[in-house]
Amino acid sequence: MKINPERFKKDFAELKQFGLLENGGVTRVSFSEEDMAARAWLEKAMEDAGLEVSIDAFGNMRGCRAGTEDLPAVMVGSHIDTVPEGGHYDGVIGVLSALEIVRTLNDGNVKTRRPVEVVNFSSEESSRFGVATLGSKAMEGKLNLALLNKLKDKNGISLYEALKGCGYDADHIESAKVDPKSIYAFLEMHIEQGPVLEAKKYPVGIVTSIAAPTRFKVTIKGLADHSGNTPMGMRKDALAGASELVLGVERIASSEAGEKTVGTVGYLYVTPGAMNVVPGKVELGIDIRDVSMEDKNKAVQAVKDLIADIAERRHLDIEYEQLCNDEPVALSDRVISTLQETADEMGISYLSMPSGAGHDAMNMAHFTEVGMIFVPSAKGISHNIEEHTSMDEVCFGADLLLKATIKLAGE
Ligand SMILES: [Zn+2]
Repeated sequence: MKINPERFKKDFAELKQFGLLENGGVTRVSFSEEDMAARAWLEKAMEDAGLEVSIDAFGNMRGCRAGTEDLPAVMVGSHIDTVPEGGHYDGVIGVLSALEIVRTLNDGNVKTRRPVEVVNFSSEESSRFGVATLGSKAMEGKLNLALLNKLKDKNGISLYEALKGCGYDADHIESAKVDPKSIYAFLEMHIEQGPVLEAKKYPVGIVTSIAAPTRFKVTIKGLADHSGNTPMGMRKDALAGASELVLGVERIASSEAGEKTVGTVGYLYVTPGAMNVVPGKVELGIDIRDVSMEDKNKAVQAVKDLIADIAERRHLDIEYEQLCNDEPVALSDRVISTLQETADEMGISYLSMPSGAGHDAMNMAHFTEVGMIFVPSAKGISHNIEEHTSMDEVCFGADLLLKATIKLAGE
């Protein structure tokens, strides 16, 4: 049994129109007009596929295909919101493949013991409200009224106001929490958003764990001095200190912490920022990720030690604020084995790999058994109009997801 590639491509072409840009990219930011139009399209498509649609207080959309027994559901899906000027694959292929899976089950008149649910999580991207995977956080019961009022977009519109504006019942946000007993397993297909599968020539990645970040905002204070009159030995150059830190983070992540540790200094603001002034102040952001909390802690400690060393040697005043310290998530061994067995049966070669990026699957894994597959991203590019995965690769992944869904739901 295989999904219908032509029908999938037709869905993809239709959904692509919501927020399509002249440059070929898409802007479908969460709870925007474009996002809401796309959701209306999706709701109709779910109903046309015979699903019973329900929408919770956060706008998460679930479409249920009943099972033959009264059992917890196998849920499959992802998100359709995008970053500004993003691509058409991130999230979208996960939702559309879930939709296509239930239609294929309908075509083949396949009855499953467990219900199969298609899910579209609201507001996965952090672009608008600064926090990612909000929809699955709502399902986990992590959102409350105070947080909805606190999170604001760049125009000062709170998440609460945005939800109300879309007609969602934000006052009862707690009602979006799902009963963990009602979900048997969750599956998500997503683009890799990295270069590994393409480089190693694997059509599919089976995700074993999801890395979590620890982030720091660091402020380095030195002394802004005349670049001509201040001798080299008498300077407190904040940027020279920051440069040591940037290279130190790279070195620690590359060779001193764990095998999977990654570390990035993604921005650097230099003050006063003039060619003839010794830099007096630098603010920078450090993002360290790992699938092992132990290795991540090791890297974080090494960075803290380095900061203390640079401050002392260079007579700089360095302060840092820890913005987050999240736990990496291991996905379900049982669901991973199901995916691996299914791939073996289908003769699909796969790479077992961690995910460096966060996904809704991460929050779902806090209360149900989760499996995730990746399909290749051309050149590893994502969150960009150049994002691309061939339709053959997407459909290949969807076929694997279909078979694994049937296995988990029980024929
Ligand atoms: Zn995504």
